Amino acid sequence: MDNFIVSARKYRPSTFNSVVGQLSLTTTLKNAIKGNHLAHAYLFCGPRGVGKTTCARIFAKTINCQNLTADFEACNQCESCVSFNEQRSYNIHELDAASNNGVDDIRTLTEQVRIPPQIGNYSVYIIDEVHMLSQGAFNAFLKTLEEPPAHAIFILATTEKHKIIPTILSRCQIYDFNRITVADTVNHLKMVAEKEGVTVDLNGLNVVAQKSDGGMRDALSIFDQLVSFCGNNITYQGVIDNLNVLDYEYYFRLVECFLKNNVQESLLIFNEVLNKGFDAHHFITGLSSHLRDVLVSKDPATIKLLEVGADIGERYKNQAQSCTPEFLFQALKISNDCDLDYRISKNKRLLVELALIRLCQLTDEKKNSILIDDRPAPIQKVAVAKAAENVQNNSNQTIPAPVAATPKQAVVEQPKAQFKPKETAKESQPVLRRPPGSISITSPTNKTEQTEEVKSVVSEKRIGNKEFSHFDLLNAWRKFSETIPELGRVVSFIQNTTPVLISSSMFEVTVSNNSLEKELKRLLPDILEFLQNNLENSSVRMSIKVVEETAVQRASSPEDRYRLFAEQNPALDILKNNLNLEID
Ligand SMILES: [Zn+2]
Repeated sequence: MDNFIVSARKYRPSTFNSVVGQLSLTTTLKNAIKGNHLAHAYLFCGPRGVGKTTCARIFAKTINCQNLTADFEACNQCESCVSFNEQRSYNIHELDAASNNGVDDIRTLTEQVRIPPQIGNYSVYIIDEVHMLSQGAFNAFLKTLEEPPAHAIFILATTEKHKIIPTILSRCQIYDFNRITVADTVNHLKMVAEKEGVTVDLNGLNVVAQKSDGGMRDALSIFDQLVSFCGNNITYQGVIDNLNVLDYEYYFRLVECFLKNNVQESLLIFNEVLNKGFDAHHFITGLSSHLRDVLVSKDPATIKLLEVGADIGERYKNQAQSCTPEFLFQALKISNDCDLDYRISKNKRLLVELALIRLCQLTDEKKNSILIDDRPAPIQKVAVAKAAENVQNNSNQTIPAPVAATPKQAVVEQPKAQFKPKETAKESQPVLRRPPGSISITSPTNKTEQTEEVKSVVSEKRIGNKEFSHFDLLNAWRKFSETIPELGRVVSFIQNTTPVLISSSMFEVTVSNNSLEKELKRLLPDILEFLQNNLENSSVRMSIKVVEETAVQRASSPEDRYRLFAEQNPALDILKNNLNLEID
């Protein structure tokens, strides 16, 4: 192979028109050139590999071109364009702020800025990864950015816009680059493959495009990797083998198993996937994505959300025809719950297998299963039970009695749900209490309606708006923490945290990371139901605040924590010594 050039460089666009997937943005830039409305500073934001630097270079070349085309593109022929294309132009200066982020680097740059260009009209300064500049460098740069010479244009590029200080943001015209769509990526890869004389399978390219997640540079380097692996014929099989991607085929077969209630086959498929060396978590997240794709294929309105090649798209559509929306909603819920529980589960394989068994029972008419649980909705059962109680206790009161009134709702025997309260749950802890003969609803379509209706009954009829103190809140919180069954770290979090009352009925809980926040949100309905009952106040609300852990919070022992505090405030040591205090 003579002088191999990576595709990302070889096929780098040289005009605005050849930039992939950023049409509205390149049009705006061209219009600015056309109307001669050039700003002094631009900020290009967006994910990596979507063309920020490329567009900056094309922009620099175009505004210096001596012979613009009728379409306001660079001619790529005049002396200026040629020098740009050969990377010897003096009108463009690039600084990679990731490796040159000091004050001196910026000073060197701002000194150059004063020198006008020899050829062409503009000197363009591209600062890549500008968010990496140090505070000092930012400040040094600000002065130049405020009053640049007429010939200077700055293009700042960043993947992390939120890290740019407002004083810089307000001085720039901001352009947000999109992720490149799968379809655009596939088309571009197809073009590159044709020029390189490589035959490709479109479904395979589709997998490449999905894997690159909207970045063309990544897509092209995966493509290069595939060419060196498969040679000049890239097949779907070659792609999934090389990229360690799970074949769509498995998931299509699995959904068929679910619909046929074929537990054995689904477990065997899972086993086959594990034997191929795939991780069970990867498998379950893939299943969620597949179910989501089937769901969006069901409706012509959402089918555009499906990003796959045409013939696979057809298979999704076919599979969607055989699934009811209810089945898909429930299946998604089960696979997503499995995904969320995965990390805290001790027996991960069993967790996934249980999920598969549940999925296989979703359409089982006999419903004699013990595994279909309604774990996520304990509130609904209690509330129904409570409403039933209401009906019994106050038969002369006119309460809508949702259980008996709606004929559609099937009344079934109480499922042996897995989400059981601890033995200690008593009368005073109504949330997870399940009195004998409590009623559950199986028809999923009625669930939401039912729950809301009953909840409003509960809150209107049973709970007032009693005032409560911070102490009452802490007390109720502690009681709640005693009712929840062991479900991993969220329980220990609830047991060890202190809610803070921030208004008469609103309290706040601080968590240290997003996954904890997610877990807490799942429990939110239970928490509120319990606290509202316990505090006899129907407007109790909870807000969750995410604060990254500080070193102090991470410190495990009280001594460690004290050490960190004392480092920040030496007066603590004096106090401790003078009063002879001990760390508890
Ligand atoms: Zn030119």
